[in-house]
Amino acid sequence: MIIATDMPEVAQCSVTQCAYNSDDSCHARAITIGDGDNPGCDTYFNNSSHTRSHRAAGVGACKVESCDFNDDFECSADSIQVGKEGKSVKCKTCTCH
Ligand code: SF4
Ligand code: SF4
Repeated sequence: MIIATDMPEVAQCSVTQCAYNSDDSCHARAITIGDGDNPGCDTYFNNSSHTRSHRAAGVGACKVESCDFNDDFECSADSIQVGKEGKSVKCKTCTCH
């Protein structure tokens, strides 16, 4: 069974070394964001080969309760952007910045 659900789109991700990234976009089915107050991308996977998928990724879950977009442990933004902050990979849309 394919489960269809509404998720915020990962509109852009600049982390080109991630296996799920091509063309500055995320093509995982869904990603998970957050660890406490840190809006990191849990799904990040540094790998030399990359996905062949062209689907747009959704935000499946987010654990950053302190973000204004977090509603019941889910993201309620229309879309998010992900990118590098120093050596970390973070949700740039988080209101914690
Ligand atoms: S959003 Fe996360 S999983 Fe998707 S390409 Fe970027 S770092 Fe990888
Ligand atoms: S915008 Fe906020 S709620 Fe949405 S994924 Fe980013 S940190 Fe989580």
